[in-house]
Amino acid sequence: MDIINTMKKHNYSAGPCILPQEVFEKSAQAILNFNNSGLSILEISHRSKDFVAVMDEARSLAIELLGLEDKGYQALFLAGGASLEFIMAPYNLMKEGGKAAYLDSGTWASAAIKEAKSFGETVIVASSKDDNYTHVPKGYTVPADADYFHCTSNNTIFGTQMKEFPNLDMPIVCDMSSDIFSRVLDFSKFDIIYAGAQKNMGPAGATLVVIKEEILGKNGRVIPSMLDYAKHIKAESMYNTPPVFPVYASMLTLQWLKNLGGIPAIEKINNAKATLLYAEIDRNPLFKGAAVVEDRSNMNATFLLNDPLHTDTFNAMLKEAGIIGLPGHRSVGGYRASMYNAMPIESVQVLVDVMTALEGNV
Ligand SMILES: *Cc1c(COP(=O)(O)O)cnc(C)c1O
Repeated sequence: MDIINTMKKHNYSAGPCILPQEVFEKSAQAILNFNNSGLSILEISHRSKDFVAVMDEARSLAIELLGLEDKGYQALFLAGGASLEFIMAPYNLMKEGGKAAYLDSGTWASAAIKEAKSFGETVIVASSKDDNYTHVPKGYTVPADADYFHCTSNNTIFGTQMKEFPNLDMPIVCDMSSDIFSRVLDFSKFDIIYAGAQKNMGPAGATLVVIKEEILGKNGRVIPSMLDYAKHIKAESMYNTPPVFPVYASMLTLQWLKNLGGIPAIEKINNAKATLLYAEIDRNPLFKGAAVVEDRSNMNATFLLNDPLHTDTFNAMLKEAGIIGLPGHRSVGGYRASMYNAMPIESVQVLVDVMTALEGNV
Protein backbone atom coordinates (compact mmCIF):
# COMPACT_ATOMS: atom_id res chain seq x y z
CA MET A 1 0.00 0.00 0.00
CA ASP A 2 1.19 3.48 -0.82
CA ILE A 3 0.84 5.44 2.38
CA ILE A 4 2.80 8.43 1.10
CA ASN A 5 0.62 11.37 0.11
CA THR A 6 2.16 12.75 -3.09
CA MET A 7 -0.55 15.41 -3.36
CA LYS A 8 0.42 17.04 -0.06
CA LYS A 9 -0.80 20.63 0.29
CA HIS A 10 0.59 23.51 2.32
CA ASN A 11 -2.03 23.29 5.05
CA TYR A 12 -2.62 26.56 6.91
CA SER A 13 -5.85 25.41 8.61
CA ALA A 14 -6.42 26.66 12.15
CA GLY A 15 -7.58 23.26 13.38
CA PRO A 16 -7.76 20.38 12.82
CA CYS A 17 -4.39 21.13 11.34
CA ILE A 18 -1.14 19.91 9.92
CA LEU A 19 0.76 17.24 11.88
CA PRO A 20 4.26 15.88 11.26
CA GLN A 21 4.50 13.64 8.22
CA GLU A 22 5.96 10.81 10.32
CA VAL A 23 2.87 10.95 12.56
CA PHE A 24 0.63 10.41 9.53
CA GLU A 25 2.76 7.50 8.36
CA LYS A 26 3.01 5.79 11.75
CA SER A 27 -0.70 6.35 12.38
CA ALA A 28 -1.54 4.81 9.00
CA GLN A 29 0.61 1.80 9.86
CA ALA A 30 -1.04 1.42 13.27
CA ILE A 31 -4.48 1.49 11.72
CA LEU A 32 -3.50 -1.61 9.77
CA ASN A 33 -1.36 -3.42 12.30
CA PHE A 34 -0.61 -1.84 15.66
CA ASN A 35 2.73 -2.85 17.23
CA ASN A 36 2.70 -6.14 15.26
CA SER A 37 -0.28 -7.25 17.31
CA GLY A 38 -2.26 -8.33 14.25
CA LEU A 39 -4.88 -5.81 15.35
CA SER A 40 -5.70 -2.27 14.30
CA ILE A 41 -5.30 0.56 16.82
CA LEU A 42 -8.97 1.19 16.01
CA GLU A 43 -10.08 -2.17 17.39
CA ILE A 44 -7.82 -2.86 20.37
CA SER A 45 -9.12 -2.68 23.91
CA HIS A 46 -8.20 0.47 25.78
CA ARG A 47 -7.39 -1.86 28.69
CA SER A 48 -4.89 -3.88 26.65
CA LYS A 49 -1.29 -3.78 27.83
CA ASP A 50 -0.18 -2.14 24.58
CA PHE A 51 -2.66 0.71 24.80
CA VAL A 52 -2.12 1.29 28.52
CA ALA A 53 1.55 1.76 27.59
CA VAL A 54 0.53 4.36 24.95
CA MET A 55 -1.57 6.30 27.45
CA ASP A 56 1.22 6.20 30.04
CA GLU A 57 3.80 7.40 27.54
CA ALA A 58 1.57 10.18 26.19
CA ARG A 59 0.89 11.43 29.72
CA SER A 60 4.50 11.32 30.81
CA LEU A 61 5.82 12.91 27.59
CA ALA A 62 3.43 15.83 28.07
CA ILE A 63 4.70 16.40 31.62
CA GLU A 64 8.32 15.97 30.55
CA LEU A 65 8.14 18.34 27.56
CA LEU A 66 6.48 21.01 29.71
CA GLY A 67 9.25 20.66 32.31
CA LEU A 68 6.80 19.66 35.03
CA GLU A 69 8.33 16.41 36.28
CA ASP A 70 8.37 15.99 40.07
CA LYS A 71 6.34 19.15 40.54
CA GLY A 72 3.05 17.56 41.51
CA TYR A 73 1.40 17.69 38.08
CA GLN A 74 -0.74 15.09 36.33
CA ALA A 75 -1.60 14.94 32.64
CA LEU A 76 -4.94 13.67 31.40
CA PHE A 77 -6.23 12.96 27.92
CA LEU A 78 -9.97 13.61 28.06
CA ALA A 79 -12.75 13.87 25.49
CA GLY A 80 -15.15 16.78 25.01
CA GLY A 81 -12.70 19.25 23.48
CA ALA A 82 -11.30 22.37 25.07
CA SER A 83 -14.92 23.52 25.24
CA LEU A 84 -15.74 20.98 27.96
CA GLU A 85 -12.89 22.40 30.04
CA PHE A 86 -14.73 25.73 30.00
CA ILE A 87 -17.17 24.16 32.48
CA MET A 88 -14.89 21.57 34.13
CA ALA A 89 -12.55 24.27 35.44
CA PRO A 90 -15.30 26.16 37.32
CA TYR A 91 -16.81 22.90 38.57
CA ASN A 92 -13.52 21.85 40.12
CA LEU A 93 -12.28 25.21 41.40
CA MET A 94 -15.16 27.59 42.11
CA LYS A 95 -16.50 27.50 45.68
CA GLU A 96 -20.20 27.78 46.57
CA GLY A 97 -20.74 31.54 46.68
CA GLY A 98 -17.22 32.07 45.37
CA LYS A 99 -16.13 33.79 42.21
CA ALA A 100 -13.80 33.45 39.29
CA ALA A 101 -11.72 36.04 37.41
CA TYR A 102 -11.39 35.93 33.60
CA LEU A 103 -9.39 37.81 31.01
CA ASP A 104 -11.49 38.41 27.88
CA SER A 105 -8.98 38.37 25.03
CA GLY A 106 -11.00 36.76 22.24
CA THR A 107 -13.84 34.54 21.10
CA TRP A 108 -12.64 31.46 22.95
CA ALA A 109 -12.00 33.41 26.15
CA SER A 110 -15.51 34.80 25.94
CA ALA A 111 -16.91 31.30 25.36
CA ALA A 112 -15.13 30.20 28.55
CA ILE A 113 -16.59 33.21 30.40
CA LYS A 114 -20.09 32.32 29.27
CA GLU A 115 -19.77 28.84 30.79
CA ALA A 116 -18.28 30.15 34.04
CA LYS A 117 -21.14 32.66 34.35
CA SER A 118 -23.64 29.85 34.12
CA PHE A 119 -21.95 28.41 37.17
CA GLY A 120 -21.19 31.31 39.50
CA GLU A 121 -20.01 34.90 39.87
CA THR A 122 -17.56 35.67 37.11
CA VAL A 123 -15.52 38.87 37.04
CA ILE A 124 -14.06 40.03 33.72
CA VAL A 125 -10.80 41.72 34.76
CA ALA A 126 -10.26 43.28 31.32
CA SER A 127 -11.55 42.91 27.77
CA SER A 128 -10.35 43.91 24.31
CA LYS A 129 -13.74 43.24 22.76
CA ASP A 130 -14.26 46.92 21.94
CA ASP A 131 -11.44 46.89 19.41
CA ASN A 132 -12.48 43.51 18.01
CA TYR A 133 -9.79 41.77 20.06
CA THR A 134 -6.86 43.12 18.06
CA HIS A 135 -4.77 43.41 21.24
CA VAL A 136 -4.34 41.51 24.49
CA PRO A 137 -5.55 43.53 27.52
CA LYS A 138 -2.79 44.51 29.95
CA GLY A 139 -2.44 46.35 33.23
CA TYR A 140 -5.49 44.75 34.87
CA THR A 141 -5.87 43.74 38.49
CA VAL A 142 -7.31 40.44 39.59
CA PRO A 143 -9.54 40.50 42.71
CA ALA A 144 -7.55 38.87 45.51
CA ASP A 145 -10.55 36.86 46.69
CA ALA A 146 -11.18 35.10 43.36
CA ASP A 147 -11.03 31.29 43.45
CA TYR A 148 -8.93 31.25 40.27
CA PHE A 149 -7.84 33.32 37.28
CA HIS A 150 -8.49 32.13 33.72
CA CYS A 151 -6.71 33.30 30.59
CA THR A 152 -6.19 32.20 26.97
CA SER A 153 -2.53 32.11 25.95
CA ASN A 154 -3.12 32.38 22.21
CA ASN A 155 -6.18 33.84 20.53
CA THR A 156 -6.52 31.55 17.55
CA ILE A 157 -9.09 33.63 15.70
CA PHE A 158 -7.60 37.12 16.14
CA GLY A 159 -3.92 36.18 15.95
CA THR A 160 -2.84 37.62 19.30
CA GLN A 161 -0.75 35.90 21.95
CA MET A 162 -0.08 36.64 25.62
CA LYS A 163 3.61 37.38 26.17
CA GLU A 164 3.32 38.00 29.93
CA PHE A 165 1.29 36.17 32.55
CA PRO A 166 0.41 37.63 35.95
CA ASN A 167 1.91 36.41 39.22
CA LEU A 168 -1.00 35.64 41.49
CA ASP A 169 -1.72 33.98 44.81
CA MET A 170 -4.48 31.87 43.34
CA PRO A 171 -4.68 29.04 40.84
CA ILE A 172 -4.11 30.13 37.23
CA VAL A 173 -6.04 28.24 34.56
CA CYS A 174 -4.89 28.68 30.99
CA ASP A 175 -6.46 27.61 27.71
CA MET A 176 -3.38 26.84 25.60
CA SER A 177 -5.26 25.07 22.82
CA SER A 178 -3.48 26.82 19.98
CA ASP A 179 0.04 27.33 21.30
CA ILE A 180 0.84 24.51 23.69
CA PHE A 181 4.32 23.04 23.14
CA SER A 182 5.18 25.92 20.80
CA ARG A 183 7.27 28.22 23.01
CA VAL A 184 9.31 28.16 26.18
CA LEU A 185 7.31 29.26 29.22
CA ASP A 186 7.56 28.56 32.93
CA PHE A 187 4.66 26.15 32.85
CA SER A 188 4.84 25.71 36.64
CA LYS A 189 3.19 29.15 36.88
CA PHE A 190 -0.04 27.51 35.83
CA ASP A 191 -2.24 25.19 37.87
CA ILE A 192 -4.44 23.93 35.05
CA ILE A 193 -3.39 23.98 31.42
CA TYR A 194 -5.77 22.60 28.83
CA ALA A 195 -5.59 22.22 25.08
CA GLY A 196 -7.70 20.55 22.43
CA ALA A 197 -5.34 18.20 20.59
CA GLN A 198 -6.30 19.35 17.12
CA LYS A 199 -4.33 22.61 17.12
CA ASN A 200 -0.81 21.50 17.83
CA MET A 201 -0.73 17.90 18.96
CA GLY A 202 -2.99 15.42 17.24
CA PRO A 203 -6.31 14.73 15.57
CA ALA A 204 -9.55 16.10 17.04
CA GLY A 205 -11.09 14.04 19.81
CA ALA A 206 -8.66 14.34 22.71
CA THR A 207 -7.99 17.23 25.08
CA LEU A 208 -4.81 17.45 27.10
CA VAL A 209 -5.37 18.69 30.65
CA VAL A 210 -2.36 19.25 32.90
CA ILE A 211 -3.26 19.79 36.54
CA LYS A 212 -1.38 20.63 39.70
CA GLU A 213 -2.95 17.98 41.86
CA GLU A 214 -2.89 19.89 45.15
CA ILE A 215 -5.43 22.48 43.96
CA LEU A 216 -8.18 19.87 43.61
CA GLY A 217 -10.75 18.82 46.19
CA LYS A 218 -10.90 22.24 47.87
CA ASN A 219 -14.15 23.79 46.70
CA GLY A 220 -16.49 21.60 48.73
CA ARG A 221 -18.74 20.67 45.84
CA VAL A 222 -20.18 17.40 44.71
CA ILE A 223 -18.78 17.05 41.19
CA PRO A 224 -20.38 14.75 38.60
CA SER A 225 -17.89 11.93 37.96
CA MET A 226 -17.12 12.74 34.34
CA LEU A 227 -16.40 16.37 35.26
CA ASP A 228 -14.22 15.52 38.25
CA TYR A 229 -10.50 15.88 37.53
CA ALA A 230 -9.62 13.92 40.66
CA LYS A 231 -11.61 10.92 39.44
CA HIS A 232 -9.88 11.04 36.05
CA ILE A 233 -6.48 11.23 37.74
CA LYS A 234 -7.28 8.33 40.04
CA ALA A 235 -8.32 6.25 37.02
CA GLU A 236 -5.08 7.17 35.21
CA SER A 237 -7.02 8.92 32.45
CA MET A 238 -9.15 5.81 31.80
CA TYR A 239 -12.24 6.59 33.87
CA ASN A 240 -14.23 5.73 30.79
CA THR A 241 -13.08 4.68 27.33
CA PRO A 242 -10.54 7.29 26.29
CA PRO A 243 -10.23 8.53 22.67
CA VAL A 244 -7.81 5.74 21.79
CA PHE A 245 -6.67 6.80 18.34
CA PRO A 246 -6.29 10.56 19.06
CA VAL A 247 -4.25 9.69 22.16
CA TYR A 248 -2.03 7.40 20.08
CA ALA A 249 -1.45 10.05 17.39
CA SER A 250 -0.82 12.69 20.08
CA MET A 251 1.80 10.41 21.63
CA LEU A 252 3.51 10.14 18.24
CA THR A 253 3.58 13.93 17.89
CA LEU A 254 5.04 14.31 21.37
CA GLN A 255 7.72 11.71 20.54
CA TRP A 256 8.50 13.65 17.35
CA LEU A 257 8.83 16.86 19.35
CA LYS A 258 11.07 15.25 21.94
CA ASN A 259 13.37 13.85 19.24
CA LEU A 260 13.57 17.28 17.66
CA GLY A 261 14.91 18.74 20.91
CA GLY A 262 11.67 19.59 22.70
CA ILE A 263 10.10 23.01 23.15
CA PRO A 264 13.36 25.06 23.00
CA ALA A 265 14.13 23.59 19.56
CA ILE A 266 10.63 24.05 18.13
CA GLU A 267 10.46 27.58 19.54
CA LYS A 268 13.45 28.59 17.40
CA ILE A 269 11.78 27.19 14.29
CA ASN A 270 8.45 28.82 15.15
CA ASN A 271 10.16 32.18 15.66
CA ALA A 272 11.91 31.87 12.30
CA LYS A 273 8.62 31.06 10.53
CA ALA A 274 6.74 33.93 12.18
CA THR A 275 9.58 36.40 11.50
CA LEU A 276 9.61 35.41 7.84
CA LEU A 277 5.87 35.90 7.37
CA TYR A 278 5.44 39.07 9.44
CA ALA A 279 8.39 40.66 7.64
CA GLU A 280 6.56 40.16 4.35
CA ILE A 281 3.23 41.42 5.78
CA ASP A 282 5.02 44.58 6.93
CA ARG A 283 7.15 45.01 3.79
CA ASN A 284 4.55 44.33 1.13
CA PRO A 285 2.43 47.44 0.46
CA LEU A 286 -0.53 45.26 -0.58
CA PHE A 287 -0.97 43.78 2.91
CA LYS A 288 -1.44 44.86 6.50
CA GLY A 289 -1.43 42.93 9.77
CA ALA A 290 -4.72 42.62 11.68
CA ALA A 291 -3.37 42.48 15.24
CA VAL A 292 -1.26 45.09 17.04
CA VAL A 293 2.42 44.36 16.47
CA GLU A 294 3.45 43.78 20.10
CA ASP A 295 0.78 41.11 20.63
CA ARG A 296 1.21 39.22 17.37
CA SER A 297 0.89 35.47 17.63
CA ASN A 298 3.65 33.17 16.40
CA MET A 299 1.05 30.50 15.71
CA ASN A 300 -1.78 32.29 13.90
CA ALA A 301 -0.82 35.32 11.81
CA THR A 302 -3.83 37.39 10.74
CA PHE A 303 -3.53 39.84 7.84
CA LEU A 304 -5.60 41.67 5.27
CA LEU A 305 -5.31 42.91 1.73
CA ASN A 306 -5.33 46.72 1.70
CA ASP A 307 -7.42 46.61 -1.44
CA PRO A 308 -10.11 43.91 -1.46
CA LEU A 309 -10.13 44.16 -5.25
CA HIS A 310 -7.03 41.93 -5.27
CA THR A 311 -8.82 39.13 -3.43
CA ASP A 312 -9.69 36.97 -6.42
CA THR A 313 -6.21 37.21 -7.93
CA PHE A 314 -4.53 36.41 -4.62
CA ASN A 315 -6.88 33.50 -3.91
CA ALA A 316 -6.23 32.04 -7.36
CA MET A 317 -2.47 32.31 -6.82
CA LEU A 318 -2.74 30.62 -3.42
CA LYS A 319 -4.67 27.77 -4.96
CA GLU A 320 -2.15 27.42 -7.75
CA ALA A 321 0.65 27.17 -5.15
CA GLY A 322 -1.17 24.39 -3.25
CA ILE A 323 -1.90 26.58 -0.22
CA ILE A 324 -5.13 25.82 1.60
CA GLY A 325 -6.83 26.90 4.81
CA LEU A 326 -5.73 30.54 4.59
CA PRO A 327 -9.05 32.45 4.66
CA GLY A 328 -9.50 34.26 7.98
CA HIS A 329 -12.25 33.58 10.47
CA ARG A 330 -15.49 35.36 9.52
CA SER A 331 -15.16 37.72 12.51
CA VAL A 332 -11.84 39.12 11.23
CA GLY A 333 -11.97 38.54 7.47
CA GLY A 334 -8.83 38.60 5.36
CA TYR A 335 -6.34 35.81 5.94
CA ARG A 336 -4.99 33.75 8.80
CA ALA A 337 -1.85 31.68 8.44
CA SER A 338 -1.77 29.04 11.16
CA MET A 339 1.86 27.99 11.51
CA TYR A 340 1.67 25.23 14.08
CA ASN A 341 4.68 23.17 15.14
CA ALA A 342 4.48 20.75 12.21
CA MET A 343 4.33 23.47 9.53
CA PRO A 344 7.70 23.44 7.74
CA ILE A 345 9.43 26.78 7.10
CA GLU A 346 9.51 25.81 3.41
CA SER A 347 5.70 26.12 3.35
CA VAL A 348 5.92 29.59 4.88
CA GLN A 349 8.42 30.53 2.18
CA VAL A 350 5.93 29.38 -0.48
CA LEU A 351 3.28 31.68 1.02
CA VAL A 352 5.72 34.61 1.22
CA ASP A 353 6.71 34.03 -2.42
CA VAL A 354 3.04 34.15 -3.47
CA MET A 355 2.55 37.41 -1.55
CA THR A 356 5.61 38.88 -3.23
CA ALA A 357 4.48 37.65 -6.64
CA LEU A 358 1.10 39.34 -6.17
CA GLU A 359 2.89 42.69 -6.22
CA GLY A 360 4.15 41.98 -9.73
CA ASN A 361 0.69 40.80 -10.79
CA VAL A 362 -1.48 43.77 -9.88
C1 LIG B 1 -10.18 25.73 19.03
C2 LIG B 1 -10.11 26.34 20.37
C3 LIG B 1 -11.03 25.99 21.38
C4 LIG B 1 -12.17 25.02 21.16
O1 LIG B 1 -11.68 23.74 21.08
P1 LIG B 1 -12.65 22.47 20.93
O2 LIG B 1 -11.70 21.35 21.10
O3 LIG B 1 -13.28 22.57 19.59
O4 LIG B 1 -13.66 22.53 22.02
C5 LIG B 1 -10.88 26.57 22.61
N1 LIG B 1 -9.91 27.46 22.86
C6 LIG B 1 -9.03 27.84 21.90
C7 LIG B 1 -7.95 28.83 22.25
C8 LIG B 1 -9.10 27.29 20.64
O5 LIG B 1 -8.23 27.65 19.70
